[in-house]
Amino acid sequence: MQAEIISIGTELLLGAIVDTNAAYISRQLAEIGIDLYHRVTVGDNEGRIARCIEEALERADVVICSGGLGPTVDDVTRQAVARATGRKLVLDEEMLGWIEERFHGWGHPMSENNRRQAFKPDGAIAIENAVGTAPIFIVQDERGAVIVLPGVPHEMEYLMEHQVIPYLKRKLGHQEVIKTRVLRTVGIGESQIDTRIGDLMESANPTVGLSAHPGQTDVRIVAKAASEEEAERLIAEMEKQVRERLGEVIYGMGEETVAEVVARMLAERELILGTVECGVDGVVSRRIFDTPDGPAVLGNCLIVDTAKEAIGFLDVPRSQFKKAGDFSAQAAQAAARAGRALLGVDLCLAVWVRAPIADHPAERPPMHIALDTGQEVIVQTFQDGGHSERAKGWLVSRALDMVRRALLKQRINSG
Ligand code: ATP
Repeated sequence: MQAEIISIGTELLLGAIVDTNAAYISRQLAEIGIDLYHRVTVGDNEGRIARCIEEALERADVVICSGGLGPTVDDVTRQAVARATGRKLVLDEEMLGWIEERFHGWGHPMSENNRRQAFKPDGAIAIENAVGTAPIFIVQDERGAVIVLPGVPHEMEYLMEHQVIPYLKRKLGHQEVIKTRVLRTVGIGESQIDTRIGDLMESANPTVGLSAHPGQTDVRIVAKAASEEEAERLIAEMEKQVRERLGEVIYGMGEETVAEVVARMLAERELILGTVECGVDGVVSRRIFDTPDGPAVLGNCLIVDTAKEAIGFLDVPRSQFKKAGDFSAQAAQAAARAGRALLGVDLCLAVWVRAPIADHPAERPPMHIALDTGQEVIVQTFQDGGHSERAKGWLVSRALDMVRRALLKQRINSG
């Protein structure tokens, strides 16, 4: 079964409010295995809403609308549904009774315009709204069902859970489940992942998709089946193949961040990490600190804006930095090495960038990350594309990943 969501409200188009309703409805549909291929946003205009509903009915079996059920003249969803389904709008005495009851309960007189909320397209199923004034309705057209919900999020959610989902489950006849697993990767681009698992991404069930963040890419596996166990089995089989192809670039699952994984690995090995951060406002140490294991594994950190300041603190002859240039890979290496000694930590990560990170990549000097593990000093140089904030996010991911990989290879000498 296919569904489509229509979010109604000019406020949504203007960006005055964010469409959280559509996100909620999407999640609910996914849980019961209903496919969703389109979401549409439309303003409070009867003709345009009606057209959206007609178009949606050409593609989907179920169209879920939210918003525009209020008592004012600009709430035109009722009229639009009636127009799209070729029905008259009629007063429903039962709906009117529910609204009157609600006002009676509150001890307020019902205003005349609330009568508008008692109208529904002829033949629609009326459903009481136990948490608000506007009753909802479902039109069962030969092209599909049009379900109309209020825009107010808590009302919409209540009605989805208590009325719409049970209705859709009955319609489905059986309960299909969709299960999702997200494998998180770091230090590898989306296109490289595509090269390695492109063929798996053509699978119909489970599906495999990618979403990219700075320095990280998520691999999302979604399986659909008649039972939880079957969906789980499908996911496990696909996950095994993805893991075989991607190996250690997968750092975690679900909501886990690289910083959390790195901090946990450090805690397991009883190691303390220190940082020398030049030009990135201490963003690396902050990321580590803000994780459950962070405070226990983060040692001293030196956070400075310029190489000159760093050199002032670190016990390294200025000539060592000068020789290769303050912002060279060698300078980053020297900073990691000197930082490890000065800060009294097991590992020292140096992030070495000329601040502020230029907006344009062409104006950006190379950025270096160095890690002194106590056994060796590893250094990597990057020149990332994108704007400055993205470049910073990217650099942090790569820096944390350098520590993660070093720990995986057990290069660390904790003594
Ligand atoms: P009411 O009967 O209370 O007037 P309604 O069904 O007419 O509700 P709208 O007037 O469209 O709904 O929206 C009421 C409020 O609900 C909006 O001002 C907004 O705060 C919130 N809202 C509406 N649509 C959405 C949405 N898609 N996502 C999040 N919030 C929404």
